[in-house]
Amino acid sequence: MDGDSTQSRMRGSAAGESPWSIRVGALAGIPIRIHLTFFLLLLWFGNVSRDQGQGFIGGVLFMLLLFGCVVLHELGHALAARRYGVATHEIVLYPFGGVARIDRMPSGRAELVIALAGPAVNLVLAGLLTTVILLWRSQAPESAKDIIGGAPIVWQLLWANLTLFAFNLIPAFPMDGGRVLRATLSIFLGEARATNIAAGVGQAIALAFAVLAFLPPPIKPVLLLIAFFVFVGAGQEAAFQRSRSAVRGLAARDAMITRFETLAPQDPLSRAVEHLLASNQQDFPVVDSWGRVVGVLHRSALLAALAADGKESAVLEVMDREPAIVPPDQPLERVLRQLQAQPMQPVLVVGDAGLEGVITVDNLAELLEIARTLGSTATVRIRS
Ligand SMILES: [Zn+2]
Repeated sequence: MDGDSTQSRMRGSAAGESPWSIRVGALAGIPIRIHLTFFLLLLWFGNVSRDQGQGFIGGVLFMLLLFGCVVLHELGHALAARRYGVATHEIVLYPFGGVARIDRMPSGRAELVIALAGPAVNLVLAGLLTTVILLWRSQAPESAKDIIGGAPIVWQLLWANLTLFAFNLIPAFPMDGGRVLRATLSIFLGEARATNIAAGVGQAIALAFAVLAFLPPPIKPVLLLIAFFVFVGAGQEAAFQRSRSAVRGLAARDAMITRFETLAPQDPLSRAVEHLLASNQQDFPVVDSWGRVVGVLHRSALLAALAADGKESAVLEVMDREPAIVPPDQPLERVLRQLQAQPMQPVLVVGDAGLEGVITVDNLAELLEIARTLGSTATVRIRS
């Protein structure tokens, strides 16, 4: 149920809100949002419930309570992350589960605690529901089938929380269990090897799910879908972790290009064209006569303006006035995330003395490539 993937949390989590979602409130200062497709799930489940004789409202109510448990699960991750000084931008509910978009995933012990905190919440909820059942002396359903439909709602929720607990602890990325496995292994084997092993285990489990989905018939499409997500998620996580360990300990100044052309706001576009033809630089920082960075001229904007107005318009009229700016000592890991979220937007490195360098997706990719060639533990410093 809960596909809480740090993949989606870490990617594009620099700022902003998830599109196609509405805010329904906040818990512990963290905005809770619902993706619009979630309402389709509510309608669908309400109808299924009515067809089974449980009533439309009953179905919707159960779904809302179930997703309440999912929100608390995500809140568990978020509050554990807060303990390690990591902020959570938002919790979003999708039809396939919840996602807590946390700012960054720390490694080692912190990752272990943050990953366990979600399933731990479901275990606590299961305990509370058991207490309610015992106090009320609620009759146990006669068969497992009754638990899913037709049993008192406390039994259904108890079953749901136990399922959420067990399912999320399957040791396969992007599920919490994958993180628990990686964090535990990394204590003994180091992060790079731990990630490779955990990703391998995740993909093996995905293949096992896929086989189970086909055998015995009928084909189980939900299991097949889970197998697919786990397989892709494990591969992405491995690749992402490799990039992350390659840039660990490095700062923006270690990866920036220091030889590049700049433009003045009053320059005609023809000047930008000269630079564009003379080098392979794609984006040009715009610096005024006081040495202040006032914008960046993108290749695409330049070409569009040339087609519309010709070569003599000023750079000022075409440039992007809100360039991405970081200080030279900004951890490279953050720059990496920023560039993954907005690959077309180069990051300008600005220190006390003004513009010092530029980081683009291409030159960061090159740095990662070099790191991979040298081995994942080697740190590289390139300057061009
Ligand atoms: Zn989780």
